[in-house]
Amino acid sequence: MTVQSKHPETLLLHAGHRADPTTGSVAVPIHQTTSYQFQDTGHATRLFALEELGFIYTRIMNPTQDALEQRLTAMDGGAATLALASGQAASHFSMFNLAWSGDNIVSSTDLYGGTWNLFANTLKQQGIECRFVDPEDPEAFREATDDRTRAYYAETLPNPKLHVFPIAEVAAIGKEFGIPLIMDNTATPIICQPFEHGGAINVYSLTKYIGGHGNSIGGAVVDSGNFDWEAHKERQPALNTPDPSYHGAVWVEAVKPLGPIAYILRMRVDLLRDVGAAISPHNAFLFIQGLETLALRMERHCENAEAVASWVKDQKKVTKVYFPGFQEGELKRRADTYLKGGYGGLVGFELDGGADAGRKFIEALKMHYHVANIGDARSLAIHPWSTTHSQLSDEEKLATGVNENYVRLSVGIEHIDDIIADLDQAMAAV
Ligand code: PLP
Repeated sequence: MTVQSKHPETLLLHAGHRADPTTGSVAVPIHQTTSYQFQDTGHATRLFALEELGFIYTRIMNPTQDALEQRLTAMDGGAATLALASGQAASHFSMFNLAWSGDNIVSSTDLYGGTWNLFANTLKQQGIECRFVDPEDPEAFREATDDRTRAYYAETLPNPKLHVFPIAEVAAIGKEFGIPLIMDNTATPIICQPFEHGGAINVYSLTKYIGGHGNSIGGAVVDSGNFDWEAHKERQPALNTPDPSYHGAVWVEAVKPLGPIAYILRMRVDLLRDVGAAISPHNAFLFIQGLETLALRMERHCENAEAVASWVKDQKKVTKVYFPGFQEGELKRRADTYLKGGYGGLVGFELDGGADAGRKFIEALKMHYHVANIGDARSLAIHPWSTTHSQLSDEEKLATGVNENYVRLSVGIEHIDDIIADLDQAMAAV
């Protein structure tokens, strides 16, 4: 029996797995196996030829991973998902599945430091140019586009600035050219649904809110199934020309009997097969556990973050607060259009007294963990200038919005009184 619902809260508990057909196990079993017995040689041949979809080898697919992928697909209202070893692998695959040496992508400047490095340096070494543009002006994406532009990329709620990205505006520009908008929705699962606004692909670091308990690294790419890869065939050669790596398959044609999954299928059977950034079955299981309570946790993260932001705003030593709910004009319009049910769990602020004040504040925290992560159930704090963004040049740090005196909070789900009490005693130490 398949449970039907339009609500992610329900689908995250029921999509993709009802009970194990052999044992009746309600929890998704951890299929800790490398390989799968073929029924006969014909079955094996059909699986390898993609005439039939099924399990071959855990580097490419696994039943626990499959249940996770189906739940993520349901959460976002997409067509198919590929779960991967990390969020970084997901960002890389999302681009590398379309752009080859000599091609380019256009990305928002407002990115997680690791993604910035990947795009500015590693992709460049692979011959792919990343053109960074300021997301405040959607038209900047059009201006940076040429015949070799294969994809647009942005984060929904990038920290440190916490300016919500203009999803519909940039997606519409991309559609004119046949260029998909890829959204890193890591900071806003459930509360932002990029596909409803024209986004083509979502990328996640599962490590954050989806896992939720700070115990596993993982990533995923979700395909909306709504992007027309054939509308401008010459724009997307990876999906529209014969693939020498898979019997000359032209992916948009080959998948026609299977549904609109050309992008994800190519990523799985080419990139994942060759590069091997596979998620472990055990981590897939832990992310399924995280998904079961994600909707509830997001509610509490949002509620607590709003209370923390209000408290921070009243502090004399704080010179600037970053929180989407407090923005004005076009930024507030974007926040209210694209985020539903809250403004996310992140709050940033700048302290009077430069980098020293930031360091003192973080060192005085007792309950908050000082870690390079966001989206844990526990409250977390960090000074990005000296940590997550430290491998960028000072100019690059400033371009992504990181100032020396900036502190980032990932507000957890503890009782709000305890969160504020800890922040209050740390502020007294500055
Ligand atoms: N995207 C965002 C927005 C992130 O914050 C991170 C990690 O902090 C990543 C991607 C990379 O994810 P992972 O650490 O799972 O590789």
